[in-house]
Amino acid sequence: MLNRQGRPTAPQAHGVADPAAGMGDEAARLQGDASRATPGAGSHPTFTGNKALAQIEPLLFEIGRYDVTGVDLDEPEDFKPRLGGLERKDEIGLPGLSEPEAMRHYVRLSQMNYGIDTGLFPLGSCTMKHNARLNERMARLPGFSDVHPLQPVSTVKGALELMNELGRYLVTLTNMTTVALSPKAGAHGELCGMMAIKAAIEARGEGKTRNVVLVPDSAHGTNPATAALIGFVVRPVPAREDGWVHVEDVKKLLGPDVAAIMLTNPNTCGLFENQVAEIAKAIHDAGAYFYCDGANFNAIVGKAKPGDLGVDAMHINLHKTFSTPHGGGGPGSGPVVLSARLAPFAPVPFVTMKDGELTLVENAADADESPFGRMTAFHGQMGMYVRALSYMLSHGSDGMKQASEDAVLNANYIRASLSDLFSQPFGDKPCMHEVLFDDTWLKDTGVTTLDFAKAMIDEGYHPMTMYFPLVVHGAMLIEPTESESKTSLDLFIATLRDLAMSAKKGDTARFTGAPYHAPRRRLDETRAARNPILKWTPPAPIAEAAE
Ligand SMILES: *Cc1c(COP(=O)(O)O)cnc(C)c1O
Repeated sequence: MLNRQGRPTAPQAHGVADPAAGMGDEAARLQGDASRATPGAGSHPTFTGNKALAQIEPLLFEIGRYDVTGVDLDEPEDFKPRLGGLERKDEIGLPGLSEPEAMRHYVRLSQMNYGIDTGLFPLGSCTMKHNARLNERMARLPGFSDVHPLQPVSTVKGALELMNELGRYLVTLTNMTTVALSPKAGAHGELCGMMAIKAAIEARGEGKTRNVVLVPDSAHGTNPATAALIGFVVRPVPAREDGWVHVEDVKKLLGPDVAAIMLTNPNTCGLFENQVAEIAKAIHDAGAYFYCDGANFNAIVGKAKPGDLGVDAMHINLHKTFSTPHGGGGPGSGPVVLSARLAPFAPVPFVTMKDGELTLVENAADADESPFGRMTAFHGQMGMYVRALSYMLSHGSDGMKQASEDAVLNANYIRASLSDLFSQPFGDKPCMHEVLFDDTWLKDTGVTTLDFAKAMIDEGYHPMTMYFPLVVHGAMLIEPTESESKTSLDLFIATLRDLAMSAKKGDTARFTGAPYHAPRRRLDETRAARNPILKWTPPAPIAEAAE
């Protein structure tokens, strides 16, 4: 296992023991992990390797036994297999655990996890905001949580009404013409919007000639990836000193071969694109479309409408802007709003009003317009729809506007409180909902952005987004969201200030070995990414282990 290789010993400067460092051979053996045993290291080793409530947790496969099963099933009666010789011959190799063992395993793992429910989550561009429990309650209503996508339409009218209402809100908040609800993430929404653009260009008979998409250097990686995936050539728009995209730069790249621009607004530097309307006009004058990456919509809900800025397609990450627990792979939802020019190409399925009743259009052939096709097998993430609409209805229009204002205020509060110590790459100007620092201020300290982030973990904070956007050296992108109180922001700011002072005073040990207190120490992230070990291999053949 990657995380057991090269376990570093704790530096004495901080007197912090590695969590598993004190575990003796016997405890390690009982916990199914002999490789953990490094007795005697650290200042106060425990027999188990646990540190009070911080318990170490081996893999399920390491603690399970292969000769028992945790459930009491009757022996099956003799039966004739119908798998035509394809039935499994070997043991299945699943670990046997009792119910409390299995339950404790997962509860312990969950306790090692950091989430928005445990603390401030300043991950920039992710909008990790509090998810009001009311939204959860609504999503669990049986009429929403138990519906099956193949149920007859006549039995799910309430769900359709909710989808229709959510769509109406999204279209109103953005001042666009229609919405495709089915995409299941922001990146999937980008694909949907760009496929609508492609369909529109093909309908104009320019499918062969317009094949270039302009993407600023600071864009999220999903933007160029999406364009390339459906056969567009990506032409980068170079970054400028001030963090904005300039209309002259865009104009220079425009021509009859350009299909679209993919622009993020507010952009990934935390700035509102101040020439967005001029850029939209230039794009339209050249016969191209304006795709807006709307992942940062949280900064402008109720303040600015993308439709008014000339946007033709924009995805909305419901799981960012409109709450929903996300991160760690939780479900997402990325509806795409479309302008009048692209609306005819919206994919199926969609909800529509027919003879005074809501119904679903499932097949492109049944649509009056020209859908480009279908993004998903079914209709999308119902649970996210419910949470998002619940968020909207409980906030109201004034509340949604205030949420954006507070998100921007909170980010600027952090910016102003740190600006004497941290350096901002684009000058000392106000930001939107997230504040971007670079690593100029860490020069000659021996501490990198990565070290700094790791030290934040020791202080009980999830690190901010690091090294993104790529155009900023050693980027630190902090997004507190509106859901943090001033008290929690003050503690966060005080912590970052304390860390910054340590770095400037030369206390590199606090950083370069961090995190000292996390269940896992610093991992070889490059190796994990380049050479991921995704399959568990038993230390000894299962048959032997079962003896
Ligand atoms: C999150 C994000 C995306 C992608 O959204 P997913 O839901 O993660 O697929 C795209 N662009 C930006 C700027 C983002 O922050």
